[in-house]
Amino acid sequence: MKMREVQFRQIKNQLERVQKAGGFYSKRLEGIQLEQIQSQEDFEQLPFSSKEDLREAYPLGLSAVEEEKIVRIHSSSGTTGTPVIIPYTAKDVDDWAIQFARCYEMAGITDKDRIQITPGYGLWTAGIGFQNGCEKLGAMAIPMGPGNTDKQIQMMIDLKSTVLCATSSYALLLAEEIAKRGIRDQIHLKKGVIGSERWGEKMRRRIQEELGIELYDIYGLTEVYGPGIGISCEKQNGIHYWDDYLYIEIVDPVTGKVLPDGEMGEIVITTLVKEGAPLIRFRTHDLSRIIPGDCPCGSPFPRLDIIAGRTDDMLKVKGVNMFPSQIEEVITEVDGASSEYLVEIEHVDGKDQMTLFVETVTGADKEQVGKHLAGHFKSRIGMTPVVKMVDLGELPRSEKKTKRVIDMRF
Ligand code: ZN
Repeated sequence: MKMREVQFRQIKNQLERVQKAGGFYSKRLEGIQLEQIQSQEDFEQLPFSSKEDLREAYPLGLSAVEEEKIVRIHSSSGTTGTPVIIPYTAKDVDDWAIQFARCYEMAGITDKDRIQITPGYGLWTAGIGFQNGCEKLGAMAIPMGPGNTDKQIQMMIDLKSTVLCATSSYALLLAEEIAKRGIRDQIHLKKGVIGSERWGEKMRRRIQEELGIELYDIYGLTEVYGPGIGISCEKQNGIHYWDDYLYIEIVDPVTGKVLPDGEMGEIVITTLVKEGAPLIRFRTHDLSRIIPGDCPCGSPFPRLDIIAGRTDDMLKVKGVNMFPSQIEEVITEVDGASSEYLVEIEHVDGKDQMTLFVETVTGADKEQVGKHLAGHFKSRIGMTPVVKMVDLGELPRSEKKTKRVIDMRF
């Protein structure tokens, strides 16, 4: 993607600021003469930053402003050790809300809507981002947080919620529960804003059909404001992102080389106006591509494709590389297979063995569907898993992120 003149100026500004601030980036940019950065190509020579780097700056080493300007911190999950702490100034908090309100608007949500927010509130950026964006837009927030399905449904009915914000797993769980109780005619939902998890077409269709609503994918990560830096539009043609706040590059995850528009690689983000914790060439580990050309919806904002997976999600089984998104695609293409699946990989007699559990659409012949699926998997991905078809609803559901791959080899 060609860097615009204004973006280049903003990036230069930001580089000067972080170099002076004396935190993490002044070390990272040590020895680099900023006046020698004259073009996009020069910028593309700057070092990347990674989540590991950010972790080393724990607790507040990322801060690029005086302490009194920081009004809030958020933290990304520390599943693998030290968490990353991101400090926000008042302007950062406001900029984030502006971007999030834009997301709601892109989804056709207005100040007349009632937005039921089920992502969690707390150190991480989920619930509070949905909330701030909702208030910025002027809609009514119903700040439920996760869990307590009975109460969720009660509030949804009594307050006539029109928008549901949720992870895809929780949206599915709610949709199934509403169908089971036969209360869909009491539900007023029109739209769903679904975030923080990659999900397949089949799951989307099921939530859409069970609830009778339009769905929008929201994108974001704690290190870069939080959810709300981009969203899909009514054409379902990728995710528009806000290029007046972010500069996005797609790079080869192995070599780090910047890839041309249209090619799949790792999303790398540079913030343009962030004050508390600016990021320069931050590697997200999310896989996508920039969709070339204009969106039929008419929005001038550029597009990323739906996130295809994580660079670190790649599975290698019997020497074959695959991403969960490919497994999902294969399942989507087989009639009689439902959206929910679970992959188990183990080492048996010195060999990899992959078992694929898939829920079966009610009434379909398990044996036939399983056979078809195994054959289709082989032709699309290049190896044959052991396919076990199970009943609808048999695999675990989660209120947060559903774990779909269990690798017992390590
Ligand atoms: Zn569009």
